[in-house]
Amino acid sequence: MKITPLNDLFVVDSGALNTVFTVKNDIATLFDTCLNKDNARKLSRAVNFNVGRIINTHSHADHIGGNSFFENKFNCKSFINKREISFCYFPELEPALLYGGCPFSASKSRFLCATGFNSIDTLENIETDIEIVELFGHSPGHTGFLINNVLYAGDALFSKEVIEKHKILYLYDVENFVYSLKKIKSLNFEYIVFCHKGIIKKDEAIELISENIAHTEKVCEEVLNVLKNYALTGEEISSEIMLKFNIPFETEYFLLVSSTIKGYLSYLEKSEKIAHLIDKGVKWKRV
Ligand SMILES: [Zn+2]
Repeated sequence: MKITPLNDLFVVDSGALNTVFTVKNDIATLFDTCLNKDNARKLSRAVNFNVGRIINTHSHADHIGGNSFFENKFNCKSFINKREISFCYFPELEPALLYGGCPFSASKSRFLCATGFNSIDTLENIETDIEIVELFGHSPGHTGFLINNVLYAGDALFSKEVIEKHKILYLYDVENFVYSLKKIKSLNFEYIVFCHKGIIKKDEAIELISENIAHTEKVCEEVLNVLKNYALTGEEISSEIMLKFNIPFETEYFLLVSSTIKGYLSYLEKSEKIAHLIDKGVKWKRV
């Protein structure tokens, strides 16, 4: 793991994602904990401080999977936005959200279904001088943190490489994702750290924000193209999009893409570009 000091904080490149920690009086506040106990153990060795508390950007498994390791080792508490807390107490809600019902066994993979917590509380109950910034969209209560001129933005934006690799970025709420990107532009910060993956200055972030917004516009365009001639269900549209972008038809990919595409359908409906109808399922047509 590579550690980069940045103003008052330290960025840990764990391989899969960037996490950060701050230290005050030899006690660390750790932001996000990677996927599981093994990752957390390595992260703990890298951080090499007593961890006094954990603050999570959101409840996805790759961000909270190591929480219980730190909670047990240091007897510390975790904090997260209240919109995310049910997913932490009942991690099956994440695959349930992606699938749209009680999750089946393959949907409860380690990437989609986190392990539980001993002690997690809402961000309202934390005492801190760190500025809490709501950056909803990627997940319902996704949150960023402004720490001495560095914005730890979690998954509120993604690198160009990640956009190119995954083709469809996982989003829960497209409108809020775009709103949050514009909000980041308006914030005062010197550096932004985001989980997948980068440490960049604000002027580069402005450019990357445009790329992320352009990505959402492109997906909207593709969805409208798929709906050119027929009304289709969300899953049928997702299959067409996966074929078009050459995304493998595997359980995790399909659940992530189809849930994201359903988010795009709600977004397009709100902007009155499509409407739903009931025809052997919930189908979507252009208006
Ligand atoms: Zn995430």
